Amino acid sequence: MDFEGYCVKCRAKVQVKAGTVKVSENGRKMVQGVCPTCGTKVTRFLPNK
Ligand SMILES: [Zn+2]
Repeated sequence: MDFEGYCVKCRAKVQVKAGTVKVSENGRKMVQGVCPTCGTKVTRFLPNK
């Protein structure tokens, strides 16, 4: 899924495409992708529904 995340390397919000949704060990959903500018991994937690 596409999402807006925060890249720590660019220190800016970036639009990540084709992120992968995962569930962490404590049951929180998150989406992971790579920054389109620098390629750093960007992770964002999703609200539970
Ligand atoms: Zn970046």
